[in-house]
Amino acid sequence: MSKIAVFPGSFDPFTIGHESIVHRAAELFDKIIIAIGHNENKKAFFTLSQRLGMIKDVFQNEPQVEVTHFEDLTIDLCRRVGAKYILRGLRTSADFEYERAIAQVNKMMYPELESVFMLTLPEHTSINSTIVREVLKYKGDVSKFIPASIDLNKYLK
Ligand code: ADP
Repeated sequence: MSKIAVFPGSFDPFTIGHESIVHRAAELFDKIIIAIGHNENKKAFFTLSQRLGMIKDVFQNEPQVEVTHFEDLTIDLCRRVGAKYILRGLRTSADFEYERAIAQVNKMMYPELESVFMLTLPEHTSINSTIVREVLKYKGDVSKFIPASIDLNKYLK
């Protein structure tokens, strides 16, 4: 049976921290589905189609990695795509506390589902989408924080 993991997040935008988690997890799972949680009422910096486009740019030559979006519960997406694993990255103890509650509630709602956490590489601990957005807002250079395969000029108009 193939092991499918869903990697849910906002990915606004996708960073080298996210990319690293996916590549490391690719050793553990047969398929990784990166799933952008989309909320019509929540204003994102990049549109859903821009975020889908960026992530597809990164993994276009990696058939093991798929990209999708969802507007319901992560566990419902997992059921739909036959995933038994949720993948999340852990940067800090604050991440841990937040993730613990979500994972335990998910487990209560879908007992067959396992949440799998990967510790961030030390050099990625301080990289997060919020800071990248802030730098972008003031026209700063974020190329160090974004996968090299994303050409931001394509998305920043
Ligand atoms: P969310 O809004 O769901 O936290 P994010 O896009 O911020 O979505 O993050 C998605 C996942 O990627 C989360 O599990 C988060 O912990 C992880 N992540 C974010 N930044 C990094 C990073 N620099 N290194 C490793 N994992 C990260």
